Amino acid sequence: MLRNVGALREAVLSEDLGEGRMRCNICQWRCRISEGGVGHCRTIINYGGKLYTTIYGVISSAAADPIEKKPVFHYKPGSLCFSVGTLGCNFRCIFCQNWEIAYADALHGAARSCKLGVEPHLLVRSAKETGSQGVAWTYNEPSIWLNYTLDCAKLCKQEGLYTVYVTNGYATPEALDLIGPYLDVYRVDIKSMEDRFYRELIKVPSPKGILEVAERAKSKWQMHIECVTNIVPGWNDSEDNLRQTARWIRDKLGDDTPWHVTRFFPYGKLSDLPPTPLETLNAAVDIGKSEGLKFVYLGNVRTGTGENTYCPKCGNLAVERFGYSVRIVGLNAEGRCSVDNEDLNMHI
Ligand code: SF4
Repeated sequence: MLRNVGALREAVLSEDLGEGRMRCNICQWRCRISEGGVGHCRTIINYGGKLYTTIYGVISSAAADPIEKKPVFHYKPGSLCFSVGTLGCNFRCIFCQNWEIAYADALHGAARSCKLGVEPHLLVRSAKETGSQGVAWTYNEPSIWLNYTLDCAKLCKQEGLYTVYVTNGYATPEALDLIGPYLDVYRVDIKSMEDRFYRELIKVPSPKGILEVAERAKSKWQMHIECVTNIVPGWNDSEDNLRQTARWIRDKLGDDTPWHVTRFFPYGKLSDLPPTPLETLNAAVDIGKSEGLKFVYLGNVRTGTGENTYCPKCGNLAVERFGYSVRIVGLNAEGRCSVDNEDLNMHI
């Protein structure tokens, strides 16, 4: 089983259940893993009565991306963010577009196509060489990579780089608390407020724990949070669901939390669905604004203005975006509106 894996490290948040059985408390599956077994994400193994991560320093993809690509619009706009992913995932979304790495089995040779042994100092060096101001763990779920992302995040903070998790939000509160002191941005998917979506399309029981941990990222760790809802026709596009999502963001994370409503494109086992109609996306933006959210953005669609940041008070154009081209046109030195000094929750 241990052929072709990256460097093994004893996994954080392991719990001894006795008689060689262990529990992994990194994500909300809280897998119980017997000796010789492997967790749901296919990256944590029980070897000799201890849990090990098999993806420490294993990089499947790396690119210096604009931070807007995550999408993150209110943190260091226009900066480059060194973005890396590994193998595996704790979700099994039936419409996953990154299935080649998310469903890859780190234990059966997939790591052979990856860069191995990328110790944190090498990652930080690569980020700096590309002119990036920060590092994002993205492409697949970063929390299952907690040993590595934690070590990297600590080093990033020492080296003056910002840090970003692009996450499905299924980490446990304990995992969040481990990395909390070193994580600046929490870009979390809020796919739906309804159990049906999570249960039937993702195979997890409910969004409840995801919402609780996102709230904790804000209240306990004061992370900068941006939410994404990819609107899937017939699944999470009802007015009621979108309104509930907007209300939850407003009430639990704050009305200045950016909400990105993005266009779904048919993929995988949802190939028979149409792309999200533009009218639905525009309706979602209207719903978000009518519920009091100050910054609602359109994603995966070029409309000309749907990605711009406007001052919610005076309407001044603060940041102009088209695709990944960004022009800061109406911010003052503190990141506030240059006309009326309104706080735009913008970290520059
Ligand atoms: S990270 Fe999550 S899915 Fe993977 S072994 Fe731990 S609890 Fe299970």
